[in-house]
Amino acid sequence: MLTTRICRSGRTRRVLVLAASLAALLPDSVRAQAEIDVLEPPAPSVTCGHRRVREALGDELIGDPRGLRAPAGPPRYVVFPDRAAALTWYAGLLPILNQAGLQLGNPAPESDRGWAVLEGMVAEQWPIFQRLATQRVGELPPPQVMLIASQELNAFAMRDPRTGQLPHAIFVLAPALQLEPEALKAIIAHELSHHALGHTDPAIEQQITRYYRARGQEPLGYLQRDDAAVRNRVETWLGHAAMVGPFVDDDFGGLPLPTLGMPVLGELLFHVVRRYSRDARPECTTLRRAGQEMFASLRGAVSPAFLAFDLDSQNRSQLRSASARFRDAARGCLNGPEDALLPAAVQLFQTPAERLLRGASPEELEIFRAEAPFIDSLVELSLLHFGEMRQLMEGYAWDELRSYTTEDSADENASRVLSGIGYPEGAMARGLQPLMDEASWRACAEVLDRGEVPPFGALTDPHHSTCYRIYHIRAFDRHMRSASN
Ligand SMILES: [Zn+2]
Repeated sequence: MLTTRICRSGRTRRVLVLAASLAALLPDSVRAQAEIDVLEPPAPSVTCGHRRVREALGDELIGDPRGLRAPAGPPRYVVFPDRAAALTWYAGLLPILNQAGLQLGNPAPESDRGWAVLEGMVAEQWPIFQRLATQRVGELPPPQVMLIASQELNAFAMRDPRTGQLPHAIFVLAPALQLEPEALKAIIAHELSHHALGHTDPAIEQQITRYYRARGQEPLGYLQRDDAAVRNRVETWLGHAAMVGPFVDDDFGGLPLPTLGMPVLGELLFHVVRRYSRDARPECTTLRRAGQEMFASLRGAVSPAFLAFDLDSQNRSQLRSASARFRDAARGCLNGPEDALLPAAVQLFQTPAERLLRGASPEELEIFRAEAPFIDSLVELSLLHFGEMRQLMEGYAWDELRSYTTEDSADENASRVLSGIGYPEGAMARGLQPLMDEASWRACAEVLDRGEVPPFGALTDPHHSTCYRIYHIRAFDRHMRSASN
C-alpha cells in the first residue's frame, strides 16, 4: 500500500528540522511504524544453502553484503498465548492506528472461514522461517495472523508504537482472501519475512536500506554498496518530500497535494479544509468543488502499473486551473483564527508550538510569524521545500537513483519461502500481478517481454513501482539460481 512515509529525521539541512520535528512528534508516527504493504507473491527454489549468502548472513535469510545481524539485546517479540490475547491487544491499539489515518476495521468474526485458511498458510511456512532465521525466531511458535475487516486489499506487519516491541503477529485485510491461494501465500510469505527479519524495527530497516546509482545495466539492489553521497542527497530530498510530496511541479500551484501518499503539509491543509466541509458560504462551496477537481486530475495522472505520476496536457491544465481557484477560495473560506498555520499545526499534531518550531530555519520562522492567511503561509512554506528539492535534483541524474529497501528484502525472502513450500519458479512474480488491473498488467508485461527495465517508481515509495517489483524478483530468482548452480 502507498503508506505515507514520514521523513526519517536527523538530516542535515536546517529547513528539514521542522519536517523532522513534525514527523517525530506526530502522535501518529504510528504511521511510519506500521509497515503497511502491498501484497506480494512468492518465489524461488532456493534453499538457504547458497554459501556466499550464508556466510554473509549468518542466520538471516537473505544475503546482505554489509552483514545484517539481529539487533543486540533480547528478542523484542511479544508472543500471544492464543488468538484471544492477540485480539485484546489489537482492540487496544486500533483507535491509535485509525487516529493515524490507517482506516482499519475490527477483526473478522470468529465464524469467518478465512481464519483457518490464513492460519494454515502461516503454519505451513513458519518452519522455514524457524530454520532459516533461527537466531531471531527459531524458538517462537507460529505468529498469530489477524484477519481484519477492510475495503482494501492489503496486509502488514508492524511494531507496537506504544512500546516499540514487535507483536508476534501479522495482519491481513479481508479482501486478500479473494485472491488465488498462490497469491495469498505470497503475501503471507512477504509479511512473515518482514516480521521474522525484524524489518519493522527502525534500526534494522536503516541497516538494510541502501542507496545507489543504476548506470547502464540495472543491478540487483542487495548486491550494491550503499553510496553515501547518494544517500545524503536522497534522504535530504525525502525529508522535503515527506512535507510536500515527491512531485516538484509548478502545476501544483505550490500546494502540497497528495499524489503517492499524503505529505505532512497536505495533512495540515486537509485538516483545516475539513472544518469547513459543511460551510454554505459561496467561497467554501467553490473551495470544495475546486478540491474535487484537483483530486480528479491527480487520480487521472497515476499509472497503477508503474506507480508513476504523469500529468497529460488535459490533467495538467485542469489541475492548474483548479488549484488556482482553490487558493483564491481558500483565502475567503479558511479564515478562522485557529486556521493560522501555527495554531492549526499545534492542533493537528497535538504538540506545543515551541517544539514544532524548534530548529526551524529563519525563513520558516518568518512564515510562521507573518500571520498571513492560512493558505498563503502554507503555500509559501511548501515553496521553500519545493525549491530545495529542485536544487537537489538540478544537474543530477535523478532517474539513475535507486534504493534497496526492506520491501525488496521481503520479496526476496518470500520468493525463497514459496520455493521452500513447493511452488515452482516465478510464484512470487505471479503473486504480485493481482496488484495491477488487467490493462496495467498488459502494459507491464509488454515492457518485461521486451527485456526492458520498467520505471523504478518514486523514491518515496519503498515498494517501487509494481512492475519494477516484478522485474526485480524475477532477476533475483535468476541470480539465486545461477549462484546455487
Ligand atoms: Zn512489505
